[in-house]
Amino acid sequence: MASNSSSTQHTNNLAQPLLAWFSKHGRHDLPWQQPRNAYRVWISEIMLQQTQVTTVIPYFERFMQTFSNINALANAPLDAVLHLWTGLGYYARARNLHKAAQQIQAHHNGEFPTDFETVLALPGIGRSTAGAILAQAYGQRHAILDGNVKRVLTRLYMIEGWPGNKNVEQSLWEKAEYHTPDENLVDYTQAIMDLGATVCKRSKPACTLCPLNKQCLAHASGQETSFPTSKPKKTKPTKQTCMLLVVDESGQQTLLEKRPPTGIWGGLWSFPECQPDDDIGDWCRNNLQLSVAATQPLDPLRHTFSHYHLDIQPIKVQASPLGVMDSEQLIWYNTREPDERGLPTPVKMLLDQLASEYDATD
Ligand code: SF4
Repeated sequence: MASNSSSTQHTNNLAQPLLAWFSKHGRHDLPWQQPRNAYRVWISEIMLQQTQVTTVIPYFERFMQTFSNINALANAPLDAVLHLWTGLGYYARARNLHKAAQQIQAHHNGEFPTDFETVLALPGIGRSTAGAILAQAYGQRHAILDGNVKRVLTRLYMIEGWPGNKNVEQSLWEKAEYHTPDENLVDYTQAIMDLGATVCKRSKPACTLCPLNKQCLAHASGQETSFPTSKPKKTKPTKQTCMLLVVDESGQQTLLEKRPPTGIWGGLWSFPECQPDDDIGDWCRNNLQLSVAATQPLDPLRHTFSHYHLDIQPIKVQASPLGVMDSEQLIWYNTREPDERGLPTPVKMLLDQLASEYDATD
């Protein structure tokens, strides 16, 4: 790690050049900036965790059209929230947003809190997100340390070690705190995030355009892309599953099952799943009270989560009920009239495939 005293001396003022750069080149027309309030900033910050701005914008706009304030979000069914999150991934974010909105409604009169510790206690909000919301919504002085800021700071100071490592993260927080100015917090917070997103990019940083290039140790030594140090590589394990696309006799309805509220795709609607070596006829009879008439394997697909690959074998199953299906966790879903519920991306793809097959034979 570069020595603290020499590098701090070297990089002693970020705010001034950053703010001057931001006024000319920063992003001033993002949808959550106009109008800017704590609710809109909060939703945008949660969506932006793990997701690029260009992907987030249409999701943010649809979200605001449906849930224009905290009470609207708190009063909505979770299914409606997950529906608007479909395709954005990391669904725990949506479940936490919904839970946090209900807590704000119950304990803070539906007003987003202004106190750091209270914000930090809300579900799904960590130290950097709490700081980013309070700085941008209320101009409070808080440091932030999202992925963009980590990249800028590790390069400026040539900080070695994976930023997810506790000691490295601690050192980055110290730098972030040190450089956070006492004024212009709204712009400074946006400016340092923008610099990371648009100039100090992961693979090809545009150092000649960077307002900090005279202070940057990694640039001075031509080692920009050696920072931040990558996460130690672990091979991702692979899991297998069979998704059963059970269609009724009309061919238009398919069975969906609500997943448990926590865990992968928690609270979303998916196809019933069995293990690759299960006998599908027996499995459907025992678990779904269905009599299977025919099965047809479809093309396999892979979905990759942050910690494993899921190899999916979809199997189309023609079946008819043996009795009344009495469960709120199972529904017959009309593929031609999709309704509002959260669907994992591969399930949405397979439903679209079923609908187009049905249209082709209709
Ligand atoms: S000079 Fe290059 S590497 Fe250094 S902060 Fe600026 S863009 Fe990033």
